[in-house]
Amino acid sequence: MTDKNKTLKNAYQKEKLLIQLEEDDAEATEQHPSCAHGPTILFYRQSQKPQDGYYACSAHRDAKLCKFQMPASKWKGESIKRELSKRTHPLINQERIGRSKIVDPTLSMQALEQDAVNAQYFFDANALAFLAEQCQLLGITKVVCMGTPRLHFHLRDKCKNIQTFLLDLDERFASHLGPKEFCHYNMCNNHFFYDRRPFEDFLRGSITDRVLIATDPPFGCRTELIAHTLHSLRRLHNRLNQIPWTPLSIFWIYPYFAYNYIKQQMPEMEMSDYLINYTNHSRYTNVGDESRAYGSPVRLFTNVPLDQLNLTTREGYKFCPKCEKHTAQTTTHCDLCGKCSSQNGQIYRHCLSCDMCVKPNYVHCQNCRRCTQREGHICSLYQSMQICWLCGSRGHIESNCRVLEKVKKTKAMSTQRGQCCLLCGRKDHRERRCKQRNKYFNETEFMGQKTIEFRG
Ligand code: SAH
Ligand code: ZN
Ligand code: ZN
Ligand code: ZN
Ligand code: ZN
Repeated sequence: MTDKNKTLKNAYQKEKLLIQLEEDDAEATEQHPSCAHGPTILFYRQSQKPQDGYYACSAHRDAKLCKFQMPASKWKGESIKRELSKRTHPLINQERIGRSKIVDPTLSMQALEQDAVNAQYFFDANALAFLAEQCQLLGITKVVCMGTPRLHFHLRDKCKNIQTFLLDLDERFASHLGPKEFCHYNMCNNHFFYDRRPFEDFLRGSITDRVLIATDPPFGCRTELIAHTLHSLRRLHNRLNQIPWTPLSIFWIYPYFAYNYIKQQMPEMEMSDYLINYTNHSRYTNVGDESRAYGSPVRLFTNVPLDQLNLTTREGYKFCPKCEKHTAQTTTHCDLCGKCSSQNGQIYRHCLSCDMCVKPNYVHCQNCRRCTQREGHICSLYQSMQICWLCGSRGHIESNCRVLEKVKKTKAMSTQRGQCCLLCGRKDHRERRCKQRNKYFNETEFMGQKTIEFRG
């Protein structure tokens, strides 16, 4: 993993800033102050109360890009009605009839690269063809390109049966695309800088329309914000078309290590094995000297059942009949795990002590009961970031779990550290997959999210 990826990953793991968004009826009243980029977000530390936090820009975490900051205590919670923008698209009066052909400006424009949060990475030709193919395969008729400008230009040029609309924070697109296909937009707070009616007209359709939202947010974006916006757009679509709660298909392009964050927000999302490559980013591509040994870490997350996608038209992918899904050629099916296990293009190996497949270069730590990186491993630090295989909460491992004490009380057990399942004493599995779990835990699963209760 490159240093930059490491920093990004650490930022994910250590981020303890909590956030609070405006309620979805945001149109009704102004709940948070606004900056130049629409309603702000309330940030506060885990140890703080929300009223001790501060309001800051939803899109820019870098003060150079947006200076706005206001202590929460200063905001008087004015209950004024929030107005939808009446500003019109700069080309409102020059809208060409129909769609004239334009050369994709992302091929020639200077990609924004102010910081990790705002860098623009454009899809390579394979990724574009793959995404367009999947849309065709799924019978999609309308695509909302949320922060995917190059995909927008690709679809409008190559897929005449698909209508597409670009929502992007980069206002330069307004000089290439008219109001019927572009709105200056902030996906972190679902804020439309221009009159949003042309977009509503786009969403309003016949019942035969199949709408998909394709988004590739900057990797520094908080997943809560994106998920919230995706939900808001679905509600808007459902309301405009007067249909009951109906999901929209989503393609959310993001690094694989954000898996747990996306799952937490949207349990219905699954990760496809397809590797997304970019043209202007050596770390996220499979060509060039600096390219990563295992290919791009960027994946497609989707609520479309994975067996409905087809990766086999692309080089390097195959169909696994045991999993009944398409996967990278390099993955191998593990019969012990019962699935194809690889997350980042590396061939995983099954560790009997972990009772799962692990990265090939990992070594097993008896103390931590897990395989982990060889270098810089500090047991206490590592354990403080793990999810316990007994109680399911983060911050400790099984041998330090409160529940274990109680389990021991109910059943005297010789717990040879790390060598056996702490619940039943057998050696061929770990606590996650123990058949006796239900003796100790009341487990319920709702929409992919598990609640574990100790029966005590
Ligand atoms: N791979 C995509 C581009 C992804 S780069 C493609 O080739 O089409 C991220 C895009 O999101 C950029 O176009 C950037 O301008 C846009 N963006 C960044 N922050 C945003 C925000 N808060 N709201 C909407 N769009 C944003
Ligand atoms: Zn395995
Ligand atoms: Zn192991
Ligand atoms: Zn350890
Ligand atoms: Zn625990």
